[in-house]
Amino acid sequence: MLLIGAAGSGKSTLARKHFKSTEIVSSDALRAMVSDDEADQSASGDAFHLLRLIAMKRLRRGRLTVIDATNVQRPARKSLLAIAAQTSAPTTAIVLNLPLDTCLARNRTRLNRLVDPDVVEKQVADLTESLHGLAQEGFQRVYVLDNTEDIDSICILRS
Ligand code: GDP
Ligand code: MG
Repeated sequence: MLLIGAAGSGKSTLARKHFKSTEIVSSDALRAMVSDDEADQSASGDAFHLLRLIAMKRLRRGRLTVIDATNVQRPARKSLLAIAAQTSAPTTAIVLNLPLDTCLARNRTRLNRLVDPDVVEKQVADLTESLHGLAQEGFQRVYVLDNTEDIDSICILRS
């Protein structure tokens, strides 16, 4: 399951609400794991290497795996879809498509780290561009949540 959304859209909050901590593979947590700093962008290569490795190991075991990363760019989604395909795992995309202003406001309230507002703006733009073709990328299911009420009320049924 891929969470897709800009920084501040609420991906980690949604993940914590609906999934066990062991089911969540977070790029921020893995950056922190290798560098002691979840904001250290120089650790991104190592963090995403680990993220893909862990996703592969879990999916080979048939374990539900929730990717908590922005995933707003197609190449990032493509590499994760390829891992799912290798393991015949079904794929779901959950898009947190909130307005830039909401993401920026929430970004300002983050306790751990503030993402540069220009970066958040670029992520929202990347996501907007991605939305057109997302349904054709190969996910079995794509859910686009456009407002906080929908995000609050989603119900995830496990098969
Ligand atoms: P992420 O960057 O997409 O992982 O976003 P987070 O889950 O870290 O959320 C960013 C900030 O927005 C945090 O301070 C959250 O407490 C807050 N937040 C997340 N979801 C909600 C929500 O549904 N309502 C409100 N009011 N705040 C939220
Ligand atoms: Mg997060």
